Amino acid sequence: MKRLYGIGGLSYGNLSVRKDEKRFWMSASGVDKANLREIGRDILMVKDYDPERNAILLSVPPHVEPRRVSVDAIEHWMIYREHPEVGAILHVHAWMEGVPATAFNYPCGTYELAQAVAEKVREAPDPARAVVGLKNHGLTITGRSLDEILERIEGKLIRTVPMV
Ligand SMILES: [Zn+2]
Repeated sequence: MKRLYGIGGLSYGNLSVRKDEKRFWMSASGVDKANLREIGRDILMVKDYDPERNAILLSVPPHVEPRRVSVDAIEHWMIYREHPEVGAILHVHAWMEGVPATAFNYPCGTYELAQAVAEKVREAPDPARAVVGLKNHGLTITGRSLDEILERIEGKLIRTVPMV
């Protein structure tokens, strides 16, 4: 992780790794991704989403006070549910050449953004290896694993997101 987030400026994103069919690990809101230390506090286990309460459900170990879950957890949840072959998801505020972008400029963490991203992932030639551009915002990248994502993007990230 240090390899990626250590370059600075990329700390304000998030990442997640699938645990099983339904659950996944995800970096908590506002933590320095180069410095993820405590399981259950900095790295949260997301077990479900409750659409009626619009709430992300977490598994938290006893005696641990978790940080806030990332606003992008719904987006990751949607993608994992729809694509069993996706093993990891990375979201960065950076860009790559030639990436298809969403039509609108959504703020981080809205349900509309999650749906727009899920749609682009669905349209990708391989949904488990997709790079989706969020207009004026950043990238959401799916992969088999975090290592596989890092290999694919290494040296290709552009730190300034083009504003259009
Ligand atoms: Zn974002």
